Amino acid sequence: MDVRAAVVTEVNGPWHTETIEIDEPRAQEVKVKMAFAGMCYSDESLRNGGITHEPVVLEMLSGRDSMFPAIGGHEGSGVVESVGEGVTALAPGDHVAVSFTPSCGTCEYCVSGRSYICDLGSTILAGPMISDGTWRHRLGDQPLNRMCQVGAFSEYIVVHEASLIRLEPWWDLRAAALISCGLSTGFGSAVNRGGVRAGDTVAVIGCGGVGSGAILGALHAGARAVIAIDTDPTKVERALGAGATHGCATALDAAFTILPELTMGKNCDVVIITVNSFADDLIEQARSITAKGGVVVATSLASFGVHHVELNLMMFSMMNQELRGTVFGSENPRIQVPKLLRLHHEGKLNVDDLVTTEYALDEVELGYADLKSGKNVRGVVRF
Ligand SMILES: [Zn+2]
Ligand SMILES: [Zn+2]
Repeated sequence: MDVRAAVVTEVNGPWHTETIEIDEPRAQEVKVKMAFAGMCYSDESLRNGGITHEPVVLEMLSGRDSMFPAIGGHEGSGVVESVGEGVTALAPGDHVAVSFTPSCGTCEYCVSGRSYICDLGSTILAGPMISDGTWRHRLGDQPLNRMCQVGAFSEYIVVHEASLIRLEPWWDLRAAALISCGLSTGFGSAVNRGGVRAGDTVAVIGCGGVGSGAILGALHAGARAVIAIDTDPTKVERALGAGATHGCATALDAAFTILPELTMGKNCDVVIITVNSFADDLIEQARSITAKGGVVVATSLASFGVHHVELNLMMFSMMNQELRGTVFGSENPRIQVPKLLRLHHEGKLNVDDLVTTEYALDEVELGYADLKSGKNVRGVVRF
């Protein structure tokens, strides 16, 4: 079947729409007609080479030494079109969200309730189908990588059932697209990984889609104060409108202008890092506004090449602090996505204001330009 998809064919090449060929779903696979796809910064990191594996690793994962050509997009929602042999949990007509981290349900991590670190996660940056190691998507005669085994910037996708989350048909598909990655990751970074509790003081560094989720999560958990930190004043403004109690440009600003009075010098119980580009000096900045016994949550993606970070080790030990990494906010996708969509359906989670612009599939390049210029918090492709 021929479908249109937004692809990248070389490092730093533009997003452009191509007609690609996709096969019918085989065993354990599902074909989905996409409704919405969110434009997360991680796809931009794929395009610009920030999250590219070394060629030798790529060769091992996919039998070739390049990530490209690749279909972008790893957050989205749609309706099941057809299912392959052995798929019992989904049927044509079901509404679904995609999950950038597949969950098999049988590995050690899945069965111990941590499907966000399912063993299938090793396949998400490059490679053929999880099911049988062959390719289902082609551009001309070249097999196509799909961002996170999804490739949501495509009219139809064929994915392994482990990459899908079944939704109730009355939940909003546009909200589902945002909740399927960024929102859930941010929310869980505050509630699950950060362990925000009632009365806590929380800072969120980076107020895009993921940061907005972290702010909403902290508020839902009962934080007394949530400080939105972003060098882009429009994002701070939006965060204040979404419930953040304080806002400033940098952690240093917070240290001097907000925290002395707000916390009597105690600093923040939880600091969550959700910036687009994770620079190596951010850990220490975040630590410096963290309280004794407090937690820094590292949610942002850095490039593979970042090996060293700035950290005042003396203060880190003597303040009894913790640094925690997280993927998907350390909550199971099949729990988190329905939970947040239910809250949205009941009017208790404001996701709609996060979508600042809707784009057509042909406008993915424009959407990312708007994201980088700060015009956009979260763009979505409407199919
Ligand atoms: Zn994402
Ligand atoms: Zn698993």
